[in-house]
Amino acid sequence: MLCYIHVPFCSRKCAYCAFVSQVPAAGDVQTYVDALLQEIAIQGDLLGRRTIATLYLGGGTPSLLPARVVEAILTRLRRAFRFSDDAEITLEANPESVTAHHLHDLVSLGVNRVSIGLQALDDDSLRLLGRRHSARQGQAAVHNARLAGVQNLSLDLIWGRPGQRVKTWLDELRQVVALRPEHLSCYSLTVEPGTPLEARCLARELELPGEEEQGKMFVYGSEYLESHGYLHYEISNFARLGFQSRHNTGYWEGRDYLGLGPSAVSTLGGRRWANPDSLADWAEAVRAGTLGQDGETLTLEQRLTELVMLRLRTSRGLNLRGYRRLAGISFMQQHAAKIQALSKRELIRIHGGYLRLSREGWLVADAILSNLTADG
Ligand code: SF4
Repeated sequence: MLCYIHVPFCSRKCAYCAFVSQVPAAGDVQTYVDALLQEIAIQGDLLGRRTIATLYLGGGTPSLLPARVVEAILTRLRRAFRFSDDAEITLEANPESVTAHHLHDLVSLGVNRVSIGLQALDDDSLRLLGRRHSARQGQAAVHNARLAGVQNLSLDLIWGRPGQRVKTWLDELRQVVALRPEHLSCYSLTVEPGTPLEARCLARELELPGEEEQGKMFVYGSEYLESHGYLHYEISNFARLGFQSRHNTGYWEGRDYLGLGPSAVSTLGGRRWANPDSLADWAEAVRAGTLGQDGETLTLEQRLTELVMLRLRTSRGLNLRGYRRLAGISFMQQHAAKIQALSKRELIRIHGGYLRLSREGWLVADAILSNLTADG
């Protein structure tokens, strides 16, 4: 089983952020920790001490939590669940809250993978995104992680930023590769409704790069990373051999996951539920023992749609035999005309019993996937 813990706190809200996170008011962290420890104990009992293969502390900014709080969380988890001997334990960190000392404490507690939200290596972009750190702090955070003994380091980057061009993106990737991370997540900037970034785009103060420019950033950027030893194993993810995120791979493979904390989603044995977004509502639901009561059992149609949507974002692709086993019908027969058209345009490939999108296919993945999962 995969386990995700949502830490809903940040020291400031970024201009593009639509995640569930808030600047903590007095008492919020204590409320969170008390309820989280209780939620862990409840779920451990309900799930009969299931084994956790991967744990991911995400957010928000988990690196804001003091080491003693992370220790309390891990201790409670170890009491309530079993852990695989080689469990992957990831913690997300933001550069401004990373010191070698803090990370060293986290590593001693068992954190064996750190994901740093670098996002950009140029100060103008970082300001525009509303990030709290500078490019220099980002580089220092990577250095500190290595000093602390982190051997599996992932860096998050955002591309397609206002003012960015293919050349500046490739220059940035050159600097990132020089930092020698084991893993990279490169997400295209999404303008989320209700964010300050959206307001500035609507006011035409900011403009995202055009479609063609973005397409080149994706294709040339991916080629550059592959030529430097990073496997492009999912649309937005790159890893050195053996360093693919086991946690995220588990999601894409449809494994069971337990989500703890405000807004966290769980899917276990085909049943899905989501925790309340607000800290107060979630903590109240934990106390009342009502979490998960409004869950739903996924229908076969929902499971098939998710299978296609998630697998076609990976380089491995969709296992056609696996699909047939679940659906009772061949995917190729179901979508013969669409697949033929996509294949003709070299957006899709079939090889060794797997159907995959080509890199050009990934570029328009949203359109392809909604087309393939639409009725008819
Ligand atoms: S650090 Fe992440 S979660 Fe926190 S405000 Fe920024 S984007 Fe949102």
